[in-house]
Amino acid sequence: MRIVRLLGLALIIFTILSGCMNGALESDKPNESKVNDPPITQPDTGSDANPSNSDDTSTESDSPSPDSPSPDSEGNDTNDDATPSVDKVTDAVWMAAGDVMMHMPQLPGAYDSKKNRYNFNPFFTQVKPILDQGDWTLVNLETPIAGKSLGYSGFPRFNAPTELADAVKYAGFDIVTNANNHAMDRGAKGIELTLEKLQKLGLVTKGTARSRIEANALTIVERKGIRMGLLAYTYGTNGIALPVKKPYAVSMIDEAAMIHDIAQLKKAGVDFITISLHFGTEYQTAPNDKQKTLARKLIAAGADIIAGSHPHVVQPYETVEVPEPDGSTRRGLIIYSMGNFISNQRGDTKDYGVIFKVDIHKNVSSGITSIGDVEPIPTWVQRSKVNNVYHYTIVPIEQALISNSLIDLTENDYASINQNITILKQRFASMSAEPYILQESLN
Ligand SMILES: [Zn+2]
Repeated sequence: MRIVRLLGLALIIFTILSGCMNGALESDKPNESKVNDPPITQPDTGSDANPSNSDDTSTESDSPSPDSPSPDSEGNDTNDDATPSVDKVTDAVWMAAGDVMMHMPQLPGAYDSKKNRYNFNPFFTQVKPILDQGDWTLVNLETPIAGKSLGYSGFPRFNAPTELADAVKYAGFDIVTNANNHAMDRGAKGIELTLEKLQKLGLVTKGTARSRIEANALTIVERKGIRMGLLAYTYGTNGIALPVKKPYAVSMIDEAAMIHDIAQLKKAGVDFITISLHFGTEYQTAPNDKQKTLARKLIAAGADIIAGSHPHVVQPYETVEVPEPDGSTRRGLIIYSMGNFISNQRGDTKDYGVIFKVDIHKNVSSGITSIGDVEPIPTWVQRSKVNNVYHYTIVPIEQALISNSLIDLTENDYASINQNITILKQRFASMSAEPYILQESLN
């Protein structure tokens, strides 16, 4: 019985990084259960001129929303009916990138012998201005960062220096998912040390856990008054068994459990749900049937964005239209694979990745949140050899071509880059031109 009680307790633990002081406490969804629900910062229905709507009172670096609703005229209190109905809207930016990997050749060039530490910031210098535009900025960390004591290693069982976490934060990421096939590379201890380091830096984590309470905690990240629920799962852990006493250490793909988790987030009143999925077939440039079936089913069950990773190459993305029981249509987004964001893998587009930039639009008056523009921004890992060691930097490749900022490249390099950009664009267009229409939602 105690376990049941603990589970109940776990459900009310939130990861809310900012804006939790948003004053509107009432729910505007009549069919929402209020019993046992934690306090919900659900949007008000627009009639009570809540001045706290520009809500960013946190210490995070979110700048005040330029488009936060202006207060109602002169704070009048009773004449709402006479006020012309102008919808209050809020826009925020969702961003994500693919796999952050650490192969052994990536280490020497980042080592600062004077300080006796690594500095991986140069990996991200060129993409930082883009990533800084995100209100939620997610990445998949494909290696434990358990530190020196466990010994650094590359494939097949990774362990990277803890300085990688500092660089991920420097890059502009605020959310790190790590349910992936390398999560167990250094066992439960690796998970523990990795989470410790990431969370010490203030990064939101999802996908691995040290305790059952942590595994079951709802992760809700609020930005500009929009509440995103986050889930993360992997297809497996490279045959390394989960600890017998900690079967929750890594969240595994399990359809029924995932649909349950989506329902829990909806019950908690989130505005939209992102699911990080580590799935698919390595080096396949299109999603397999299993990926498509699962991702679409999760959208039907209430997820809004699937952020896919694992194949080490970019795969297509698609939008999905879901008919809702009330006759409206909801738009979901499935990104099947964002490829390698940083790695030592080269050739066959393995050195290319993508940052997705997605507009999240909330009509504060109706309480409805929807997905707006979707922009894939292709990236390329430039690798150069100086004094016999490699140096790596992620380049927003189209931007770099336009500004002519690439250095040390031959004619052949340019030809190859242009060819690969064309290939990536064809992949993006292959499934996104027309929305995929789901027959019904599972709600
Ligand atoms: Zn993987």
